[in-house]
Formats: sequence, structure tokens, C-alpha cells
Amino acid sequence: MKKKTEEPLVALAVGAHPDDIEFMMAGTLLLLKEAGAEIHVWHLGDGAGGTAKLGRRAITTLRAKEARESARLAGAQSHGPLFGDLQIFYDSSSLARVSAVVREIKPNIILTHSPNDYMEDHQNTCRLVVTAAFSRGMINHVTQPRRPVCDEPVAIYHALPHGLRDGLGQVIRPDFFVNVAPVMDLKREMLACHRSQKEWLDVSQGMDAYLKEMERLGAEAGRMSRKFKYAEGWRCHSHLGFAASDYRPLQQLLGRKTCLQAVRLKGKRVDFQPADMKN
Ligand SMILES: [Zn+2]
Repeated sequence: MKKKTEEPLVALAVGAHPDDIEFMMAGTLLLLKEAGAEIHVWHLGDGAGGTAKLGRRAITTLRAKEARESARLAGAQSHGPLFGDLQIFYDSSSLARVSAVVREIKPNIILTHSPNDYMEDHQNTCRLVVTAAFSRGMINHVTQPRRPVCDEPVAIYHALPHGLRDGLGQVIRPDFFVNVAPVMDLKREMLACHRSQKEWLDVSQGMDAYLKEMERLGAEAGRMSRKFKYAEGWRCHSHLGFAASDYRPLQQLLGRKTCLQAVRLKGKRVDFQPADMKN
């Protein structure tokens, strides 16, 4: 899991909207920080969609402030949005802008949305950041603004989709679980910073008490693991184009007590056992 230099590993969580990381990724990010990683949070969309009453400027200013407050609690460096909500598209100009930021941050670990999720902003965020990481060392991939290439190895981990199901209602089974029970209080405090969203989620999605919804999702993933009270589940992106096949910086930093990986037993049964740290 070596970097090119002896600097700490860099972990970057990328969500579409200002509170997405807090729902599905923040526990793992906090544990990575405790284990010595430098952590970054980045939401690509400005959160303008998350209101039933405020104008664009008012809601985006408020949501940026809430996101910075949450990042401060986590001890993370925060990065501001590039796009409006529902304006996150996989196209060359968007990719050039996302690629510039990825080259600046030089992440070794990327946490991001599931490729299959309940809405397009999440899926497009995932696609943009995966390609930005893939092209980080390509001299002829032009970024906006221009940034030098980066040759750090990087491993990409996909969170479970919101609701733990894809847009067609299929349950997504993770490759491994992370025990986030020790950091649930701080994860809850981070989400609570997004005060503007309580009222909005009540109205738009019937998500009464959004803090409880986050806990419910963590508990459901914990039950899937058959071991942890609260968990976040992850699927590993292929290493091809990103790092050596045995590059597992997240599992190695967090260790076998914190990570349980899926093991296929006879037939279709799957169980979860301490994560494999080597190839
Ligand atoms: Zn979202």
C-alpha cells in the first residue's frame, strides 16, 4: 500500500450532493483519518435542489456552509461544487474540470457512489471521478484548468446505493463491510450539520428524521454483515489502470477487525470473514 513518497495516504470521498458522504461513506472516512490518512470531502453538485422555499443563491450558500461545518468536524479538507444539482453530466468539459481537482488532491483511496444508484447525479458523479482517476497520468488528457499528471496508485471503492438498493430495487451486496459503530456519534454529528435538509427531506421523500434514516441504513448494513451493529458496505473497482492487483490501502489501513470481506461458500451462499490483506 505504499505511496510514491513517505507522506500519509490520501483518502478522498466524492458525493453528488452536500450530505451524501455523511449518509453512506463518512464512517469509513473517519476511521481512515484515525488510522493516519489525510482526508478530503468533495460534493460535485451545489445542493440547489434541496429546498422547497429558498432561491438558488440562498440555498447554495447555506448548503456550502453546512458542508464546510461537517468537514471541520471530521478534520477533512473540503472542496466546493463544480455543477448545479441535476446538471452533473458525463461529458468532456465536466470531465476536464473534475480531472483537474483529482490531480490536485492526488488521492490513494477514492470513496464514491455506487455505479447503480437511485438517481442520475449519483451515477454521473461516480463515472466522472472514476474516469478522472483513470486519466490522472495521461499527458494528453487536458484538464481544466491545466494540472500536471499524477502517478500515485489509487484504489476506488463504491459505497452502497442509497437505500441499499439500485434504481430498480435490486439489493446490492457489498464486497466487504467496515465496522463504523465506533464513529457513529461523530458521523451523526456530521449529518446534523446539514440542518436545511431536515425540512426538505420530510417534504420531498417522506424521510422523517433524516438522522434516524442514516442510522437505519447503517444498522441494515450491519445486519447484512452478521457481525457489526453499524456498518458501511463497499464494492471494489477493478485495479486495472489504477494500481497493482494487490493494492488494498483501505483494508490494510483499517485492519481485519474492522473489515469483513465476502467469501463465497458452497452453492450461492455468501459469508463474511476478516478481510484478506494480501493478494
Ligand atoms: Zn445525493
